[in-house]
Amino acid sequence: MSRVFNFSAGPAMLPDEVMKKAASEMTDWNGSGMSVMEMSHRGREFVSIAEKAEADLREILNIPDNYKVLFLQGGASGQFAMVPMNLLRGKKTADYINTGSWSKKAIAEAKRFCDVNVAATGESGKFTGIPQFSGWSLNKEAAYVHYTPNETIVGVEFHYIPETGDLPLVADMSSTILSRPLDVSKYGVIYAGAQKNIGPAGLTIVIVRDDLIGDEISGTPAMFSYATHAKAGSMYNTPPTYSWYIAGLVFEWIKQKGGLEAMAEINKRKSDKLYNAIESSSFYSNPVEPDCRSWMNVPFILADPELDGKFLEQAKGAGLVTLKGHRSVGGMRASIYNAMPEEGVDALIAFMEEFEKSNA
Ligand code: PMP
Repeated sequence: MSRVFNFSAGPAMLPDEVMKKAASEMTDWNGSGMSVMEMSHRGREFVSIAEKAEADLREILNIPDNYKVLFLQGGASGQFAMVPMNLLRGKKTADYINTGSWSKKAIAEAKRFCDVNVAATGESGKFTGIPQFSGWSLNKEAAYVHYTPNETIVGVEFHYIPETGDLPLVADMSSTILSRPLDVSKYGVIYAGAQKNIGPAGLTIVIVRDDLIGDEISGTPAMFSYATHAKAGSMYNTPPTYSWYIAGLVFEWIKQKGGLEAMAEINKRKSDKLYNAIESSSFYSNPVEPDCRSWMNVPFILADPELDGKFLEQAKGAGLVTLKGHRSVGGMRASIYNAMPEEGVDALIAFMEEFEKSNA
């Protein structure tokens, strides 16, 4: 079987080594005679897998002891609701930064529970930049400040952590977690759907500071309470066991590769190369301001959109797939998460140059 370079925004590529290990253990994990898929989540075998995955994630991200790591379901979209349900704690308002489609979805969901103060928005620039921090109008009465460090669709990314003082900082890190080292202690809550940089879809990771657990709004269903899952070690009900296991293999892979410093170095190099290739041509362009270009999702447009179909078809022929931009912005998007090898980016750049020569 030949593998393609898959530039999907998510579910996205997983490291080859992880896939091969999972395949070799598919029907018999570690002499247990069972697939991980067939194991009781409360059995000794799965508990050992779960504990190792959490320990490795804690090590990679250097997560302080006063944070819980939850392995949940419901996607990042579920967190759009769980965050206000758990963090409002009697307050009536929360601050949100609007940097694009995913922030907007988080805002829409929060509005079911509280007044949302949009403290800054990139709307006037069509979300091709991040509003200057100095201009944010944070509200002292807010329960928390929510932002989206990487907007997967438009490809804008924060390259700094906002300093929100006593206001707990909440981040939807779905498309950037594990791409570089992170100071977890700056955050109240970090959450991410797994299907980009962590593992298969179906798993959602939530890292939450202890003092923000409990006291959820009245009527919160047990499944939506951080306290429920924290108390039960993410085993209140059946967790997404197989995705958890694969995530554990990805964490092991990151450790073997040299941790998040090594990831950051490669990710920076990969994205620099691709942005330089786009920048140095008049055939391709990227509308995002240079200081907030995403390392993970690189959108670009062709000077002549009539060529989009041909570009995608020929790219596919060259083993470069899922390059179509999100339907809301059009053009192309190359998602180059941790598991996209540098050779994949090199192959894309070579293809782009060739395509430009034949079509410019
Ligand atoms: N936030 C961001 C930044 C995303 O990229 C996505 C998925 N593309 C989501 C939220 C929604 O995630 P999920 O499908 O896990 O609910």
